[in-house]
Amino acid sequence: MRIVFPALPVLALLFVAGLTGCERTAPPATRATPDPDTLTAQIARMADYPAVDVEMTLRNVSAHTYYVQGAAGVATDNAGFISNAGAVVTDEGVVIFDALGTPSLAALFVRKLRAVTDQPIRKVIVSHYHADHIYGLQVFRDMGAEIIAPAGAMAYIDSDIAAERLEERQFSLDPWVNEKTYIVNPDRFLREPETFTLGGVEFVISLLGAAHSDGDMTLYVPDDGVLFSGDIIFEGRVPYVGDANTRNWLVVLKQMETRKLAALIPGHGPAAKDPTQAISLTRRYIEKLRTVMGKAAYEMTSFDEAYAAADWSEFAHLPAFDLANRRNAYQVFLAMEIEEAEVGAE
Ligand SMILES: [Zn+2]
Repeated sequence: MRIVFPALPVLALLFVAGLTGCERTAPPATRATPDPDTLTAQIARMADYPAVDVEMTLRNVSAHTYYVQGAAGVATDNAGFISNAGAVVTDEGVVIFDALGTPSLAALFVRKLRAVTDQPIRKVIVSHYHADHIYGLQVFRDMGAEIIAPAGAMAYIDSDIAAERLEERQFSLDPWVNEKTYIVNPDRFLREPETFTLGGVEFVISLLGAAHSDGDMTLYVPDDGVLFSGDIIFEGRVPYVGDANTRNWLVVLKQMETRKLAALIPGHGPAAKDPTQAISLTRRYIEKLRTVMGKAAYEMTSFDEAYAAADWSEFAHLPAFDLANRRNAYQVFLAMEIEEAEVGAE
């Protein structure tokens, strides 16, 4: 019989555990103390959230990856279930990508995951801080998952816009967004791209800087060839550019085109059937805006003149073109004027 002294250092305990332990090949030396936690235990500790009656199907994409797909529509349609969330399941825990638009939806997503794994949720990667992707975060925080956000999200968290949006959603998404719903501060803001391994699966977080929002990140799982793109890639429709930094956006899209992708899960809508084509379409659109509006800024042509003279035929047939294109073009025009001034000042 072995006597284990309470004061025995952790390393020695690990050593003893290793001698008597499982039949699997030896774990790497750097591995932390095994966590007794399970998803079942996490769910048991989960707070109560108002039940939500939406259709949510957990779709399996590849060996490790899953996602749930929100319905098409505006933010308050379908009980707020209009964005996607992903999960990467490994032998040592689950990594979540985005947290859905209400805590109730996140809680439902977690229960769906329980059908395929009992591994605890370790990390949540937040593509960007927009309401439809973050109100579920408190569920994961309470579970003890590490929440990782892009650096620019700070600007959103502290903003009046964020506070006003939450207040508005407490009405429009009542009872699922209520007085207990809050904007979760992440455990970490990423300023640099990051790669990590969990359960033998590699994770690559790309940091885009300000692209679609104040800060955007994507998650790539090379073993599976799966990219979770957040809102920077739009499948089969004209993207909403807003005050995005299209220069950064374009750089990242070009890098992505060289990756070998089996699947691409966007922030909204179905997984892209042809990932390369989806990236290429978004890239060509952003490029077109920047070329046309960059030329106008350089030649000091007026926006209206440049817009009218441009050939938009490659994109005019796409959904949301009439709604978004002129506004997108104008945003890019303003940005290109500033970029032009910067170049002139150098
Ligand atoms: Zn979104």
